[in-house]
Amino acid sequence: MSASQSSSSAQAPPSDVEASRAKISEAKAQAFRHTLAKYDLNEDILQKIHDTFVEIAKDAGQIMKGAERKSLSSAAIKDNTTDLVTKYDKKIEEDARLRLHNVFPAIEFLGEETFGAGTVLSDKPTVVLDPIDGTLNFTRGVRYCAVSIALVLEKKPIIGVVYSPFEGELFTAIRGKGSHRTKMNDEGSVIEKVQLPLPEHYGRPMPNLKGCLLGFEWGHKREGPNWDLRTQVLIWLLAANGAMCKSIRTRGSCALDFCNVALGEFDAYWDCDAKVWDVAAGWCIVEEAGGIVASVNPGDWQPTMEGRVYFPIRKAEPEEQKAVVGEFWAHMGERRFQYGATGTLKDPEEQPKERKTWFSYFRASIW
Ligand SMILES: [Mg+2]
Repeated sequence: MSASQSSSSAQAPPSDVEASRAKISEAKAQAFRHTLAKYDLNEDILQKIHDTFVEIAKDAGQIMKGAERKSLSSAAIKDNTTDLVTKYDKKIEEDARLRLHNVFPAIEFLGEETFGAGTVLSDKPTVVLDPIDGTLNFTRGVRYCAVSIALVLEKKPIIGVVYSPFEGELFTAIRGKGSHRTKMNDEGSVIEKVQLPLPEHYGRPMPNLKGCLLGFEWGHKREGPNWDLRTQVLIWLLAANGAMCKSIRTRGSCALDFCNVALGEFDAYWDCDAKVWDVAAGWCIVEEAGGIVASVNPGDWQPTMEGRVYFPIRKAEPEEQKAVVGEFWAHMGERRFQYGATGTLKDPEEQPKERKTWFSYFRASIW
């Protein structure tokens, strides 16, 4: 808690609402400790894992800063021309995988560059890594890219580390311990460490979408029903005869977009084409900053990390968070984004159509 936040709570005795919230949070903490014990984990081990993530992220940042700019223009294409991978993505992931295996051999590993179709998260403790989130930005020298590492337990993120080396910003969170942003200079020395959300955004009202600054990413697929719905919703959010939100930023890194929500700079962010490694660390950082993560599809207050549809909202009064999500959902009506979970081969809209054979043509000509 920042100085400004703690001074106000020290002046007045806690209200019934605050007392009840404290009770709920203690019950949650106790349940969390019980869950950790099931997997031979405890708070000290979580701190060690967190510290290792931070070291790995900083070393990865050095690799990114030292990248040979010329080689980046030949980044390889994955799904299509918007989805890139460089030798640096692969090196960072391989270094991190080996290092984590040496220190925490019992923890499973899921990384973007070694991920295989069909892979799904188990309940066991798993590191989820995006070696470079915002690779397109990275190849163009746009500073908005980051290393993203999470520890996931029972499919929920419990540690999140997102490091933006070119901005010198490190975002960290451990379940139950809050979120922080650490600013560092080029030598890696700490300039400032602050708890999130930033004090200037703490308590800022959020009555409806009209007052919101949103984040958004375009995703890799630029056609089909999901794309059509994305663009329709986007126009509604911006238009004078729609929600007319303040504006929408598309900055190119999902992990950092989540961190912007945790900071309180973005009121919300919506995405429906991201993968589990894009969101895992940022998710923990948002929740520990008092935010929530709903789905963009109506009715789902607890989306899965593998589910591809995300709507993180910054810290605000619970009624305000619900009102903003509700306004968005009301516009969606009966419409739904149809994305396959992270491990599936294809989205529902891409499933192969029935193959035409000479018999099907023959049958069609009869009936
Ligand atoms: Mg990546």
